[in-house]
Amino acid sequence: MFVKTVSRRYNNDMGVRDVHDILERLCNLLRMEVRTFGLRYGLQPVQIEAVTYLTHCNRYSDTPQAVGEYLGLTKGTVSQSLKVLEQKGLLRKQQDKQDKRIVHLAATAKGKKLVEQSITAKGLEAALKMTSSLRGRELEELLRSILRGMQHHNQRKTFAACHTCRFNEQHTGGYVCGLTQEPLREREIQLICREHEYPGEKTLISVS
Ligand code: SF4
Repeated sequence: MFVKTVSRRYNNDMGVRDVHDILERLCNLLRMEVRTFGLRYGLQPVQIEAVTYLTHCNRYSDTPQAVGEYLGLTKGTVSQSLKVLEQKGLLRKQQDKQDKRIVHLAATAKGKKLVEQSITAKGLEAALKMTSSLRGRELEELLRSILRGMQHHNQRKTFAACHTCRFNEQHTGGYVCGLTQEPLREREIQLICREHEYPGEKTLISVS
């Protein structure tokens, strides 16, 4: 519904081409700033993006395969990036307790700090303070709606927050994942998941 409302409003006020060009320039600028920031630490943008992803994904999505799906990278590139991040002490690997073939990845305290610094370095906070016409939450909803609309159109995985997933069940004792039947902690329902699906939607192909 929100996707339709936003789309109607922007078809009237602004051409698709204009929106496309602004989003493209924003994406390019973010990528440029992350590249500049990464140079200080000997890191490629993709390596910073990988450790950033690991700071907000859940336990079903913290594998090398999921990193590749989220960033649209090949297995080889992911593997090289993770190696560099591990060597620099920005992430740690842990074998799954039940299935020894599965490796879980987590950003270290150093990795989390670097991610915070990289976000600050982009200057987004200062730019947001200059946007008087939209409040932060409204802007977030608008951008999320565009993202969701494009993912739906292109049948891409959503990688959205667990609490918005159609499998998320709220019971008296807490939250449960209806897909795995495992309990979810309060903190986990804010994290993003590679199995996420919005109610009434099904995404079929991965981003890689
Ligand atoms: S409820 Fe959905 S988003 Fe949450 S863990 Fe289960 S599949 Fe993932």
